[in-house]
Amino acid sequence: MTLDQNWFTERCKEAGSAFSLQIKRKLHDEQTPFQHIEIYETEKFGNLMTIDGFVMLTTRDNFVYHEMMSHPVLYSHPRPRRVVIIGGGDCGTLREVLKHPEVESVVQVDIDERVTRLSEQYFPELCESNADPRAELRFGDGIQWVKDAEPGSVDVIIVDSTDPIGPAEGLFSGPFYKDCLRVLGSDGLLGQQSESPLYHTQSIIRPMHDEMRKAGFLDTLTLHFPQASYPSGWWTATIAAKDMPVTFLREEACENKPFATQYYNDAIHRACAATPEFLRRALLD
Ligand code: SAM
Repeated sequence: MTLDQNWFTERCKEAGSAFSLQIKRKLHDEQTPFQHIEIYETEKFGNLMTIDGFVMLTTRDNFVYHEMMSHPVLYSHPRPRRVVIIGGGDCGTLREVLKHPEVESVVQVDIDERVTRLSEQYFPELCESNADPRAELRFGDGIQWVKDAEPGSVDVIIVDSTDPIGPAEGLFSGPFYKDCLRVLGSDGLLGQQSESPLYHTQSIIRPMHDEMRKAGFLDTLTLHFPQASYPSGWWTATIAAKDMPVTFLREEACENKPFATQYYNDAIHRACAATPEFLRRALLD
């Protein structure tokens, strides 16, 4: 990350590219026991949160990411009642999950309470459902939480984590996926942010499919969507299904969803699952 004449720049070294936002001022700077969190006010993207110099979210475009991390996987499960979010401390995914009336409980496990406290302060709109009686906010290591959870006790696990470095590294590994499989009940689904299709197909997406299948998941599928403030402007979520085809969709419920969204709808659900040719080939090889 560099700050040059009021421009925040995130460099993506492996792709030889960078993304910049014009900054009005820095609002907060804090080194927690886990990571370095910064909050900026930008000229055109609202507030910006970075962790260790990487963009986590902006006010302007986080809606795409949070909707795509939650609604596709929830409408792909026949009856999602018990949901767990690993990471997600900004609470944007939690807010979307709680829009589903059939969801009875959501446990969110983020390793760093400061992310949530700062989100409450600088992204209050994302935290507006935190007091919902169905939500439980826990602070601790998501890897350990899944290890300790009862077999078959969860319908949907959503991994909304930082990149696979530091505390999030183990969330992209075979042992973690094995624990997720054990904790999921029948029809269980795991949805995970899986980085850029343009930059990370070989380094992250393909290994993720391999590890999920090796762990015992029956089917896997990568969804893609635009995300202006992330490297390449194009992002993915990968869904792994315990024991059914991952392309299942509760069509009628999805077409008549009882809540508003800004990006997701039933047509987007079908469209985001259409695999581009380079990705299809990479996943077959
Ligand atoms: N949308 C973001 C992205 O893709 O860049 C991710 C946002 S969310 C803020 C990521 C969260 O993952 C952070 O709050 C971080 O504390 C959390 N996290 C990282 N490793 C974790 C772990 N092992 N257990 C639980 N939470 C973790």
